[in-house]
Amino acid sequence: MALSLDLTAEKPRPSPAPRAAQAEKPSLIGLSRPEMAEALIGAGIVPERQAKMRVQQLWHWLYVRGVSDFAEMFNISKDLRATLAKHFTIARPEIVEEQISNDGTRKWLFRFPPRGAGRPVEIETVYIPEEGRGTLCISSQVGCTLTCSFCHTGTQKLVRNLTAEEILAQLLTARDRLGDFPDRDTPDGAIVPAEGRKVSNIVMMGMGEPLYNFEEVKKALLIASDGDGLSLSKRRITLSTSGVVPEIARTGEEIGVMLAISLHATNDDLRDLLVPINKKFPLKDLIAACRGYPGLSNARRITFEYVMLKDVNDSLDDAKALVQLLKGIPAKINLIPFNPWPGTNYQCSDWETIEKFADYINNAGYASPIRTPRGRDILAACGQLKSESERLKKHERLALEAMMIAGHGD
Ligand code: SAH
Ligand code: SF4
Repeated sequence: MALSLDLTAEKPRPSPAPRAAQAEKPSLIGLSRPEMAEALIGAGIVPERQAKMRVQQLWHWLYVRGVSDFAEMFNISKDLRATLAKHFTIARPEIVEEQISNDGTRKWLFRFPPRGAGRPVEIETVYIPEEGRGTLCISSQVGCTLTCSFCHTGTQKLVRNLTAEEILAQLLTARDRLGDFPDRDTPDGAIVPAEGRKVSNIVMMGMGEPLYNFEEVKKALLIASDGDGLSLSKRRITLSTSGVVPEIARTGEEIGVMLAISLHATNDDLRDLLVPINKKFPLKDLIAACRGYPGLSNARRITFEYVMLKDVNDSLDDAKALVQLLKGIPAKINLIPFNPWPGTNYQCSDWETIEKFADYINNAGYASPIRTPRGRDILAACGQLKSESERLKKHERLALEAMMIAGHGD
């Protein structure tokens, strides 16, 4: 990878409304239709008989037109808009920073207002443009309770779960910045059709373990995939889990999105070290849950993620064991070159080793793309995310850059 240290960090335009007022008001974003109706009726804003119609109207403004200010809802009376604004917010989070990598990857640092007595939190969201598609990598928690030994996020304590609003806000704000919503300056701006959007896919692969925040992730993904909401096909939404076995069947039944499993090892001894949740839910149970995943077929395969760690899990014997383990499961295998971070003891496997490993798996009949590392120069690659509260100190960043220049992980 060509490494440019010349980072572009833009200070985006400030959000239109003042933050202090927003924090105190509940948001309408992330509510299911019945919840939104209840909120409107409860606040005495609309009579019960009108609620369904108003919800439909608001839903369209929020998710199809992407407005972030009630004032822009021009088919709603001025009085009603003012009343809505008095009780609720639909504002976006503050964009603290936007970085654009030399490969086009973008990383945003978002700040969300405090919840109750808590403090504001900051999270990262990454956009990866590729030939024919663009993927948004969304966070589900601030930090993570799990401590996978090769993951940078895992070194950060869990601060809190994100709400459905905050999960969706990452998608809405990315779409604002990428021009996926109609132009707000022309009141009748054309809706950007699904095929023309920059964000065509989303993956729950940012910070956190999505299945430890099941209800909020579910609410957000059901709105993201709702035909009258953000209308992303469920086949274009992938949820990645480290292996929270009891929630896997529910993910298929209640959310219905594509599943990815962070596998990384083919025996319990090694997986206990790499992905410690394995001690609670060992491979036998994880693989059984995968076999039973609702809707699984050759057209709807599970993706198994496998990080390539030098001399740890990258031998040909490991490749053989992997093929053996996944026998009979409609699967794709995603080989991820390890992305280094300051303080890690792991190194990425040599390129030649990765290719040999991939060849073995391909010959066994699996599609096994090697995930090209993206956005490493802005620490936006898998497992490199951490929030502002723990951003790299200057000497750490220099150490990381030196590691990458020296070729570790490339
Ligand atoms: N917590 C969830 C989702 C977020 S992690 C999970 O673990 O699945 C997204 C993916 O990045 C996971 O497969 C994770 O194992 C991988 N990952 C974490 N740290 C990494 C690193 N340093 N290099 C490469 N991949 C990493
Ligand atoms: Fe958490 Fe996933 Fe990182 Fe493990 S790999 S520490 S589950 S974010």
